[in-house]
Amino acid sequence: MTGLDLLPPDRRQLLIGGSWQEAAGGERFDVVDPADGSVLTTVADASAGDAMDALDAAVAAQADWAGTAPRERSEILRRAFERLTAQADDFAELMSLEMGKTVAEAKGELTYGAEFFRWYAEEAVRIHGRWMQAPAGGSRLLTIKKPVGPCFFVTPWNFPLAMGTRKIGPAIAAGCTMVIKPAAQTPLTMLALAGLLADVGLPDGVLNIVTTTAAGEVGEAVMSDDRLRKVSFTGSTGVGRVLVRQSADQLLRVSMELGGNAPFVVFEDADVDAAVDGAMIAKMRNMGEACTSANRFLVHASVASEFAEKLGARMGALTVGRGQDEGVDVGPLIDEKAVESVSQLVTDAIHDGATVVTGGTVSEGPGYFYPPTVLVDVHPESAINVEEIFGPVAPITTFESEDEAIRRANDTDYGLASYVYTRDLARTIRVAESLDFGMVGINTGLISNPAAPFGGMKASGFGREGGFEGIEEYLETTYVALPAD
Ligand code: NAP
Repeated sequence: MTGLDLLPPDRRQLLIGGSWQEAAGGERFDVVDPADGSVLTTVADASAGDAMDALDAAVAAQADWAGTAPRERSEILRRAFERLTAQADDFAELMSLEMGKTVAEAKGELTYGAEFFRWYAEEAVRIHGRWMQAPAGGSRLLTIKKPVGPCFFVTPWNFPLAMGTRKIGPAIAAGCTMVIKPAAQTPLTMLALAGLLADVGLPDGVLNIVTTTAAGEVGEAVMSDDRLRKVSFTGSTGVGRVLVRQSADQLLRVSMELGGNAPFVVFEDADVDAAVDGAMIAKMRNMGEACTSANRFLVHASVASEFAEKLGARMGALTVGRGQDEGVDVGPLIDEKAVESVSQLVTDAIHDGATVVTGGTVSEGPGYFYPPTVLVDVHPESAINVEEIFGPVAPITTFESEDEAIRRANDTDYGLASYVYTRDLARTIRVAESLDFGMVGINTGLISNPAAPFGGMKASGFGREGGFEGIEEYLETTYVALPAD
């Protein structure tokens, strides 16, 4: 079995209350291969009415699901982890087809994404409140944890599996039901995942999927229903703002995992070769199409030429091509708009004075490819340093002092990931404490870990996914006052 075979035609539909079904109006939309623009297959195109049917199913399933034993929920997640791990090759192929990333990269996402099921299988049986004596004596204070209730999940195209499992894992563990709207460009992996969860025993109605090209209408309908209790979104800051506004009427619990503008700071005392290794990961993971991607390289002036030369050589040696082909390091971007947007940022940076070390030119031919690119002498205020690039471009600027590095690193609306390379322990502590980011990687280009709290501050959103913190987003606390006499 490979790729598309994982998702039989009767599962390229909506999943509502345990039944795979067409959209009520019978509409379908195309899923495109970004390596050549061809149509891979079609899936059902839900209307707002279909989404409301999905919410009805989630609401109907909520009470029974909340009443299941934690061990039962835990074991479903554990079986899902094992099945996903066993089918990693097939899932990786499917994800590579619809999203473009290399199969090796997709396997990395599979490992990461599946771990959320294992982690939350372990957390499901550790949900507990507390019992304490009131400080003044006498009464006892008891807290009870309960699932928040039906959730609405909206996920992006860049990590079609892991951005789902990060929400689905804790929701299942906590006892919440859900309606999921995956990105229209990559619905297949999520549908295959839903099939897998049904196959390992997730009860009907707990997880419902609406694939759609009408994201706005579907979102608005579901979010305006007072039976919904939570929205969790991963995507752009602009759409996040829309959803936060919509969440106000029902006062929903909200988790927002939004965009980033990660600084990658290399101090003069850093191991430059290690920094280049880390930069390759922080920049090139997912072709730069990650919210955690290093977006701005701030390098001490004394080591900037060495860093740029070495990074340029490594980036220039990467092979660009179809994600499923042997020997390919870098797949296509998601669509033509993405290529145009990255090209425009590079053109503007050059106009503002930057010099190209490698890359920078889009080649002719089908597919949405952009070459790995390194720029030096980039103006700090050039658009490429202000906006999320979401492509394989590393813009380098220099700094002279630690204060300047911290000030410039923090000089962004965003606050998700940041990276620092230094061998000085005192500096490590000073800088980590001074950075206004939800995550700081020290001498590493890879910070995502299912056991750690992933999330941002400022325009990167709020809430945490993963770790002990992640399940709290799906739990309500009831405090019970008990007089002791
Ligand atoms: P996007 O345009 O915001 O789309 C994300 C999801 O929102 C898609 O499913 C999209 O549906 C849906 N959507 C769009 N408009 C909507 C609306 N009005 N109401 C409800 N849903 C709506 O973002 P993207 O381009 O797919 O993803 C890239 C962005 O995600 C980047 O900014 C990246 O940094 C961020 N991201 C953040 C994290 C994190 O954890 N912080 C992780 C990954 C990505 P359609 O597909 O139909 O448009």
